[in-house]
Amino acid sequence: MLVGRFAPSPSGRMHLGNVFTALLVWLDVRSSKGRLILRIEDLDQQRCSWEKAAQLVDDLQWLGLDWDEGGLKPEYCQSRRTGYYQAVFARLDAAGLVYPCFCSRAQRLAALAPHLGENSAAEVCPCRNLSFAEQQERLSQGLAAAWRIKVPAERVGLRDGNFGEYSENLAADCGDFIIRRSDGVFAYQLAVVADDAAMGVNRVVRGRDLLNSAPRQIWLHRVLGYPPPSYCHVPLLLAADGKRLAKRDASLDLGSLRQTCTAPQLIGGLAWLAGLQTEPRPCSPRDLLASFSWARVRQADILLNDLP
Ligand code: GLU
Repeated sequence: MLVGRFAPSPSGRMHLGNVFTALLVWLDVRSSKGRLILRIEDLDQQRCSWEKAAQLVDDLQWLGLDWDEGGLKPEYCQSRRTGYYQAVFARLDAAGLVYPCFCSRAQRLAALAPHLGENSAAEVCPCRNLSFAEQQERLSQGLAAAWRIKVPAERVGLRDGNFGEYSENLAADCGDFIIRRSDGVFAYQLAVVADDAAMGVNRVVRGRDLLNSAPRQIWLHRVLGYPPPSYCHVPLLLAADGKRLAKRDASLDLGSLRQTCTAPQLIGGLAWLAGLQTEPRPCSPRDLLASFSWARVRQADILLNDLP
């Protein structure tokens, strides 16, 4: 059975781009009669909150996008799953793959997904070559360490359901990446793999700005002995200037849109932008099920100038 998930980070109100992805996740799972999990990716407690997560759940209900498992239950909120991430981290450490990084460059955002353009370029961290004694000395001095995982010079690829073949040489294209921040918070890359495996997720649908995270996630799945899910990345909705929709564009978040549109108008408009309707006819998610097919979903990003 197909098991998919919608895994938003409640760091702000849902915006149109999040709704677009949520709709495609929902259609993918429901059209396959699969099971849909809602997981709250609230690792970064400075930016995420319970109130924002509760608002997100309310917004999804308003849109008519339901799920079978998860939501606000603590076992589906990443901020409450630290003990589990610790165990996964310990396995990677025991395999000799993890090292402390004392570089001062802040890795503040590592707990959140690194959307395209936010990745630091691959570089060899000087901390990779510290001896065990040097590591221990710095740790005992109380120096803050983030924790990186050593990636091999190996090409890891996937056949994406929407974008086709994609691969990266992990060492050259991404480099040793952070799996735990210096403040102790586990990073997105570790948590997402640990959770997809623990929750039996075998299908990941999300924005194409996370396509370049897929090779390192597939590699982590393999290292941990988990079967990697299949992936399908969806086009992005871009602001009129071609930039990613940001949570700061308040006019495009559900706080505003719920004042100006009905849910069927929004769903119908997004289905039209996705290529699933020939006109922006108001409809419910369920109305789109019978004719849903990935072959109809467009690949190119969508400029919001195109909005009905
Ligand atoms: N939590 C991530 C986000 O809000 C999505 C992670 C994923 O789908 O892998 O962008």
